Amino acid sequence: MSLSRREFIGIGSAAVAGMALSPGLRLVDLAQARSPDEAVTSLKRWGLLVDINKCNDCNACVTACHEENGVVGHDRPATDAQWIRKVTLKDKQTGYVQTLPVMCQHCEEPPCVDVCPTGASFKRADGIVLVDKHICIGCRYCMMACPYKARSFVHEDTTDQKPHAPRGKGTVESCTLCVHRVDAGKVPACVEACNKDGNKAMVFGDLKDRNSDISKHLASGSSTQLRPDLNLNTGVRYRGI
Ligand code: SF4
Ligand code: SF4
Repeated sequence: MSLSRREFIGIGSAAVAGMALSPGLRLVDLAQARSPDEAVTSLKRWGLLVDINKCNDCNACVTACHEENGVVGHDRPATDAQWIRKVTLKDKQTGYVQTLPVMCQHCEEPPCVDVCPTGASFKRADGIVLVDKHICIGCRYCMMACPYKARSFVHEDTTDQKPHAPRGKGTVESCTLCVHRVDAGKVPACVEACNKDGNKAMVFGDLKDRNSDISKHLASGSSTQLRPDLNLNTGVRYRGI
């Protein structure tokens, strides 16, 4: 996908479709990835900094995300689910081209939550935005509302699902910041893959902790949100764009 900076706003389709969840799967587990006796706290806000200067466009983050969460393609690029995708930005004046990984930006004021008629689209106290697929009716209002085109509708039957990332045909899904890993004290799969390959273009952590890696990185230089004019106070930030 190639977009100018000004065009970086997403409009989805609005058709209504039925929901078909695979039998035996507890999709609510995703919404409640943290164990019930360990409450999610607003004392934390999880965030992700992507330093485009260090990104070498290797695609390791995309591959790791989709492997971790069982997101498989069906050779239908227009409709295949994508939890993270590469977006190419071109400066119209200079012609300068950059490619950056884009996933759910985990907005503090998420438009996808505001428009959801069932409450399926919600934000945890720690800032992670999720979909409770048990009550998602597949209306796709959230896809239309998301300015980052971060959400996908599941068009196909889902097979070989991961227990920690159940998916359902007829529902909407997006990056969960690998909530199952975060709740287990790990970093998201994309961050782990980026670091493993030595690029270290992604830093994950608690934005409310001044001593966290991400807070120190953010304090050490400039960074930006995508479409800061929307005032969504995204949890995902970028450096170098
Ligand atoms: S990036 Fe899109 S899906 Fe994610 S919280 Fe913001 S509006 Fe919702
Ligand atoms: S598609 Fe699902 S999560 Fe999105 S607005 Fe409709 S019911 Fe809510």
